[in-house]
Amino acid sequence: TYEWSEDVIRMLKDVYKIDSFRPKQLAAINSTLSGQHAIVVMPTGAGKSLCYQLPALVKPGLTVVVSPLISLMEDQLRSLTNRNIPAKLMSNTSTKEETSEALNTLKDKNTKIKLLYVTPERFAKSKRFMSNLQTCYAAGRLQRIAIDEVHCCSQWGHDFRPDYKYLGILTQMFPNTPLLGLTATATASVLTDVQKMLNIPGCLVIKSTFNRPNLFYKILEKPSSLEDCLTILEKLLKGRYRGESGIIYTNSIRDAEDIAGGLRKRGLKVGCYHANLEAAVRSQVHTKWHDKYYQAIVATIAFGMGIDKPDVRFVIHHTISKSMENYYQESGRAGRDGLRAECVTLYRMQDIFKVSTMVFSSVGNLEHLYGMVKYCLNGSLCRRLIIAEHFDENWGTADCNNMCDVCCTSGTNEKIINVRLYCKTL
Ligand code: ADP
Ligand code: MG
Ligand code: ZN
Repeated sequence: TYEWSEDVIRMLKDVYKIDSFRPKQLAAINSTLSGQHAIVVMPTGAGKSLCYQLPALVKPGLTVVVSPLISLMEDQLRSLTNRNIPAKLMSNTSTKEETSEALNTLKDKNTKIKLLYVTPERFAKSKRFMSNLQTCYAAGRLQRIAIDEVHCCSQWGHDFRPDYKYLGILTQMFPNTPLLGLTATATASVLTDVQKMLNIPGCLVIKSTFNRPNLFYKILEKPSSLEDCLTILEKLLKGRYRGESGIIYTNSIRDAEDIAGGLRKRGLKVGCYHANLEAAVRSQVHTKWHDKYYQAIVATIAFGMGIDKPDVRFVIHHTISKSMENYYQESGRAGRDGLRAECVTLYRMQDIFKVSTMVFSSVGNLEHLYGMVKYCLNGSLCRRLIIAEHFDENWGTADCNNMCDVCCTSGTNEKIINVRLYCKTL
């Protein structure tokens, strides 16, 4: 135990109303409170925010949080406000007043603010911010700098953001302030790259497992026509998944609309969700799905944030994701309640080209797409083994427990389950 251990437990119960930590959260909290640099690697939804929010409350001073997107920061601020945790954010859409309030929290020794959220370009483009941050540090009040989505530092990551390179100066400017990076990207090359860029080579890496034992992974051969795809989806929704909730991910707004329309014609209750719909409509669709009026939502990846439905029983990908990271995250919305759920991907080779035109902008991105293809193509290796390998883990084949299509049909060297055969068994 540490001097702060009692406070940490008390805050968890009083402020968060949570009884126990999830795996590795306490390790992350203790390491950053000890003043160590660390990188926390946990799947999306595992609870990374707690790893820097809670420490911010335990000691005096300020925690500065770097976040890549204004929408992410606003989400965080909303949930902090709900818990009565005083926090501020500063972005290029902030008003003058908001900005000077935020800057004041850095200078004001008596401020109640515990967390200040900023976007990465502040560190290069705002002299005022940097000089106030310097003042904060000199007064011994810069408790830690948390860097959310820290894989954005790496060119090898699936989401490189040039502005993150400005963070390389932090360890020199604030040598006594620990950095805490957080990400759901676990590949060794990305982690090494991030450490190098932040000047914290070989720092402590705290990683929780990416294994989701209750998810069944499956690939289906995708037919070329929309009608045939609709037939598969219809059979699944009326058969295997009858009465259950799920998501069907598509690769474009047009696909989402076509599939939702087609399924409705076949008598199914499905919603459609994408970025071109007004916010009010999106939230209505979300609610109808949440309340089980819609069996499924047919969506682009715009449907992601704020899904807190624990009993999602299936996530079907009508088109492959652009990387394994993306696939893991999207499919991972299934089975949050711990009960069995299925992650199905419709795969056909032509879709590689369809998706690659979107990710063509960089060689790194193409490599990420190949990771996804490797997962779909392989007909003899356990799917979970491929996922484990991707996230640099070793779950062991025995751990699959027949929770993938390959292990389920083991012994045979079947490539991809033939759809027509499969449909007959529904
Ligand atoms: P991440 O950033 O890892 O994707 P978040 O920090 O946004 O995940 O947390 C996801 C959800 O998990 C939040 O609703 C959060 O309140 C909840 N959560 C975090 N830690 C715990 C815990 N120990 N017990 C229960 N719920 C938790
Ligand atoms: Mg997060
Ligand atoms: Zn398997």
